[in-house]
Amino acid sequence: MLWPKATLPSLLHLTPAWLWERGLKGVILDLDNTLLPYGEEEVPEAHLAWLKGLREAVPVYLLSNALPKRFARIQEKLGLPGHAPALKPWAGFRKALKTLGLPPREVAVVGDQIFTDILGGNLLGAYTVLVPPLREQEFFYTRFIRLLETPFRRPWEGMGS
Ligand SMILES: [Mg+2]
Repeated sequence: MLWPKATLPSLLHLTPAWLWERGLKGVILDLDNTLLPYGEEEVPEAHLAWLKGLREAVPVYLLSNALPKRFARIQEKLGLPGHAPALKPWAGFRKALKTLGLPPREVAVVGDQIFTDILGGNLLGAYTVLVPPLREQEFFYTRFIRLLETPFRRPWEGMGS
Protein backbone atom coordinates (compact mmCIF):
# COMPACT_ATOMS: atom_id res chain seq x y z
CA MET A 1 0.00 0.00 0.00
CA LEU A 2 2.95 2.31 0.52
CA TRP A 3 4.77 1.49 -2.70
CA PRO A 4 4.19 3.84 -5.61
CA LYS A 5 3.34 2.18 -8.90
CA ALA A 6 5.93 4.38 -10.57
CA THR A 7 8.64 6.78 -9.49
CA LEU A 8 9.65 9.63 -11.78
CA PRO A 9 12.76 11.84 -11.51
CA SER A 10 10.58 14.95 -11.86
CA LEU A 11 7.06 16.11 -12.63
CA LEU A 12 8.20 17.03 -16.14
CA HIS A 13 8.58 13.32 -16.91
CA LEU A 14 4.83 12.85 -16.54
CA THR A 15 3.92 13.45 -20.18
CA PRO A 16 0.69 12.75 -22.07
CA ALA A 17 2.50 9.94 -23.94
CA TRP A 18 3.63 8.37 -20.66
CA LEU A 19 0.03 8.44 -19.40
CA TRP A 20 -1.46 7.06 -22.61
CA GLU A 21 0.99 4.17 -22.66
CA ARG A 22 -0.40 3.15 -19.26
CA GLY A 23 -4.06 3.66 -20.12
CA LEU A 24 -4.29 6.69 -17.84
CA LYS A 25 -6.85 9.33 -18.78
CA GLY A 26 -6.75 11.78 -15.88
CA VAL A 27 -4.48 13.12 -13.16
CA ILE A 28 -5.03 13.91 -9.49
CA LEU A 29 -2.18 16.25 -8.69
CA ASP A 30 -0.67 17.24 -5.34
CA LEU A 31 0.18 20.90 -4.76
CA ASP A 32 2.88 21.46 -2.12
CA ASN A 33 6.36 20.27 -3.03
CA THR A 34 4.90 18.69 -6.17
CA LEU A 35 3.59 21.53 -8.34
CA LEU A 36 5.21 24.34 -6.35
CA PRO A 37 7.64 24.63 -3.40
CA TYR A 38 5.98 24.15 -0.02
CA GLY A 39 4.31 27.29 1.30
CA GLU A 40 4.74 29.32 -1.89
CA GLU A 41 2.04 30.57 -4.24
CA GLU A 42 3.88 30.94 -7.54
CA VAL A 43 4.11 27.89 -9.78
CA PRO A 44 7.60 27.67 -11.39
CA GLU A 45 7.68 28.56 -15.12
CA ALA A 46 8.72 25.05 -16.14
CA HIS A 47 5.79 23.56 -14.27
CA LEU A 48 3.33 26.06 -15.76
CA ALA A 49 4.40 25.04 -19.26
CA TRP A 50 4.27 21.37 -18.30
CA LEU A 51 0.79 21.78 -16.80
CA LYS A 52 -0.48 23.54 -19.93
CA GLY A 53 0.64 20.64 -22.11
CA LEU A 54 -0.79 18.06 -19.74
CA ARG A 55 -4.19 19.75 -19.53
CA GLU A 56 -4.50 19.81 -23.29
CA ALA A 57 -4.29 16.00 -23.16
CA VAL A 58 -6.08 14.93 -19.97
CA PRO A 59 -8.21 16.45 -17.18
CA VAL A 60 -6.24 17.46 -14.09
CA TYR A 61 -7.61 17.76 -10.56
CA LEU A 62 -5.68 19.55 -7.84
CA LEU A 63 -5.98 17.78 -4.48
CA SER A 64 -4.15 19.25 -1.52
CA ASN A 65 -3.95 19.24 2.25
CA ALA A 66 -3.14 22.96 2.11
CA LEU A 67 -5.16 25.58 3.97
CA PRO A 68 -8.26 26.64 2.00
CA LYS A 69 -7.52 30.36 1.51
CA ARG A 70 -4.04 29.89 0.10
CA PHE A 71 -5.25 26.98 -2.00
CA ALA A 72 -8.14 29.03 -3.40
CA ARG A 73 -5.76 31.79 -4.54
CA ILE A 74 -3.49 29.32 -6.35
CA GLN A 75 -6.40 27.40 -7.81
CA GLU A 76 -8.02 30.55 -9.14
CA LYS A 77 -4.82 31.59 -10.88
CA LEU A 78 -4.47 28.19 -12.50
CA GLY A 79 -8.16 27.74 -13.25
CA LEU A 80 -8.04 24.08 -12.25
CA PRO A 81 -10.72 21.99 -10.58
CA GLY A 82 -9.71 20.85 -7.12
CA HIS A 83 -10.20 21.27 -3.41
CA ALA A 84 -8.40 21.64 -0.10
CA PRO A 85 -7.95 20.67 2.61
CA ALA A 86 -8.48 17.13 1.41
CA LEU A 87 -7.28 15.23 4.53
CA LYS A 88 -5.24 12.88 2.36
CA PRO A 89 -4.81 9.93 2.49
CA TRP A 90 -8.26 9.39 3.98
CA ALA A 91 -10.52 11.81 2.18
CA GLY A 92 -10.86 13.84 -0.97
CA PHE A 93 -10.00 11.26 -3.60
CA ARG A 94 -13.59 10.15 -4.25
CA LYS A 95 -14.67 13.70 -4.96
CA ALA A 96 -11.71 14.11 -7.31
CA LEU A 97 -12.65 10.92 -9.19
CA LYS A 98 -16.24 12.05 -9.52
CA THR A 99 -15.15 15.37 -11.02
CA LEU A 100 -12.77 13.65 -13.43
CA GLY A 101 -15.53 11.18 -14.33
CA LEU A 102 -13.07 8.30 -14.54
CA PRO A 103 -12.65 4.92 -12.81
CA PRO A 104 -9.67 4.77 -10.38
CA ARG A 105 -7.58 2.52 -12.62
CA GLU A 106 -7.57 5.19 -15.33
CA VAL A 107 -6.33 7.91 -13.00
CA ALA A 108 -2.76 8.79 -12.00
CA VAL A 109 -2.37 10.10 -8.45
CA VAL A 110 0.79 12.18 -8.46
CA GLY A 111 2.60 13.54 -5.42
CA ASP A 112 5.75 13.75 -3.32
CA GLN A 113 4.56 12.07 -0.12
CA ILE A 114 4.18 8.38 0.60
CA PHE A 115 1.78 8.65 3.54
CA THR A 116 -0.64 11.04 1.90
CA ASP A 117 -0.47 10.91 -1.91
CA ILE A 118 0.75 7.36 -2.47
CA LEU A 119 -1.16 5.65 0.35
CA GLY A 120 -4.33 7.56 -0.56
CA GLY A 121 -3.98 6.76 -4.25
CA ASN A 122 -3.28 3.10 -3.57
CA LEU A 123 -6.30 2.83 -1.26
CA LEU A 124 -8.34 4.30 -4.08
CA GLY A 125 -7.03 1.77 -6.60
CA ALA A 126 -5.44 4.46 -8.75
CA TYR A 127 -2.05 4.44 -10.52
CA THR A 128 0.27 6.12 -8.04
CA VAL A 129 3.25 8.18 -9.17
CA LEU A 130 5.87 9.45 -6.75
CA VAL A 131 7.97 12.50 -7.62
CA PRO A 132 10.83 13.92 -5.51
CA PRO A 133 9.77 16.79 -3.19
CA LEU A 134 10.37 20.10 -4.91
CA ARG A 135 11.77 21.82 -1.83
CA GLU A 136 14.54 19.26 -1.51
CA GLN A 137 15.30 19.46 -5.19
CA GLU A 138 15.50 23.20 -4.88
CA PHE A 139 17.75 22.97 -1.83
CA PHE A 140 19.98 20.52 -3.61
CA TYR A 141 20.11 22.76 -6.66
CA THR A 142 20.77 25.84 -4.54
CA ARG A 143 23.57 24.08 -2.65
CA PHE A 144 25.08 22.90 -5.90
CA ILE A 145 24.99 26.39 -7.41
CA ARG A 146 26.46 27.88 -4.21
CA LEU A 147 29.29 25.39 -4.44
CA LEU A 148 29.95 26.45 -8.04
CA GLU A 149 29.78 30.08 -7.00
CA THR A 150 32.23 29.76 -4.13
CA PRO A 151 35.49 30.51 -6.00
CA PHE A 152 33.88 33.51 -7.66
CA ARG A 153 32.56 34.91 -4.40
CA ARG A 154 35.82 34.82 -2.45
CA PRO A 155 37.58 37.81 -3.99
CA TRP A 156 34.60 40.01 -3.10
CA GLU A 157 34.35 38.82 0.45
CA GLY A 158 37.80 40.11 1.23
CA MET A 159 36.99 43.60 -0.02
CA GLY A 160 34.79 44.53 2.89
CA SER A 161 31.71 44.92 0.76
MG1 LIG B 1 3.03 17.36 -1.30
